[in-house]
Amino acid sequence: MARRTFSIGGVHPNDAKISRNCKIETLPTPPTVYIAVAQHIGAPAKPVVAVGDKVKAGQVIAEPGGFMSAYIHSSVSGTVKSIGPRKDLSGNNQMVVEIAVEGDEWMEGIDRTDTLVTEIPQDPKAIIEKIKLGGVVGLGGATFPTHVKLSPPPGKKCEMLIINGCECEPYLTSDFRTLLEKGEQVVVGTAIIKKALGVDMATIAIEDNKPEAIDHITKVVAEMKAKSSDYAGIEVMSLMKKYPEGGEKQLIDAVMHRQVKSGGLPIDVGAVVDNVCTALAVYEAVQKNKPLVDNSVTVTGECFPHQANLLVRVGTPLSYIIDYLGGVPADAAKVISGGPMMGKAIANLDAATLKGTGGILFLTEKQTRRMPESSCIRCGKCADACPMGLEPFLLNRLYKAGNTEALEANAVQDCIMCGCCLYSCPAGIPLLDAISQARGQVMGIMKARAAAAKAAAEAAKAKTE
Ligand code: SF4
Ligand code: SF4
Repeated sequence: MARRTFSIGGVHPNDAKISRNCKIETLPTPPTVYIAVAQHIGAPAKPVVAVGDKVKAGQVIAEPGGFMSAYIHSSVSGTVKSIGPRKDLSGNNQMVVEIAVEGDEWMEGIDRTDTLVTEIPQDPKAIIEKIKLGGVVGLGGATFPTHVKLSPPPGKKCEMLIINGCECEPYLTSDFRTLLEKGEQVVVGTAIIKKALGVDMATIAIEDNKPEAIDHITKVVAEMKAKSSDYAGIEVMSLMKKYPEGGEKQLIDAVMHRQVKSGGLPIDVGAVVDNVCTALAVYEAVQKNKPLVDNSVTVTGECFPHQANLLVRVGTPLSYIIDYLGGVPADAAKVISGGPMMGKAIANLDAATLKGTGGILFLTEKQTRRMPESSCIRCGKCADACPMGLEPFLLNRLYKAGNTEALEANAVQDCIMCGCCLYSCPAGIPLLDAISQARGQVMGIMKARAAAAKAAAEAAKAKTE
């Protein structure tokens, strides 16, 4: 039988899951945390604490700054030392709340025991409110506020919840370890999200390079189904190991054989996609009243002797994590936040983790060396590899010509920045650099155009009133 996967493009990099046997270990709490107020797509949260305030772990320190925003909680107990700008991992200033750690006191009502709570609350509105109050955001990379995702706009109906356990980025294994070590909680979280959406079917999709996770979750799902009808309709699906299988649109294609159109959303084709760690965070927020204050981070790389998966308090300085594991290896030339395909180079090791930080990867000079660039030989390999059906060689040429109109017409805005084109190009052309710039320009133009159209419509409406 053919192995299930998405229909267009994709590549097969070495998955390099060298940390796959590292169990999730709890990192000791750092002496100081720096908690950013913008850790999600949408408006930054607004601080509600002041310098000198005493806070407990799990206490709200910033409230949503708009509809598309999320609560931020303190991940530690201690004293607020400052509120102001601090450099993030790219070296840009971000507003953070600095908290000096004192003890480990938690807010009342947070259940930190390991007792598994399998009974599913029945009121979708109450579930979504708890998810909102827990500051849960998508942990698969996009950090989209989960309560917003679980409230489809009028007229849109979810037909299938997909829980993304693909973890197709090479090197990263924190999702895999979560499936193995917290599989029960992930399955309960899946049933809770299913209830919130009012959907009958949920698929937990896992790539077939993680057979232990597929077997374990299949067993857990069967056990839960035997206990309660709230788990009916949850299935486990094995997908082919192919990058970027975990891309939202690619996953929907693989699981449902439906394609999200250019500019469209998963809900347009009846899908909602959440990551396995998001399902765990939902479980914790709803069943244990525990907000999203920690997350698991893979620390890895061939040159890094102390591979690890660590449970890290949000706002922990990267340098603290790295020092705990023995420091930056001498032959590391580059440190990346995330994986090698979609991760970001870290310019500042003093930056602190965010809710969505999933990995720290060390690469040697040899691993980061780019092949010398030569002329395009029109082989078409970049187009064959593109999972969005784009023509990267053409987008590169149009960007160099400064033709934003043609870039938009050729859908550069649909690029998901997966890097498959760059990975495939035998001429070493830095396609992703150019396409990323082009995409930013075109999206800026589209945004400005939409804002102008909205303003014109409002002005016309005001005139007629
Ligand atoms: S980075 Fe963009 S253009 Fe390149 S393969 Fe991925 S989606 Fe296509
Ligand atoms: S893969 Fe590289 S050489 Fe081949 S067509 Fe694309 S840009 Fe040109």
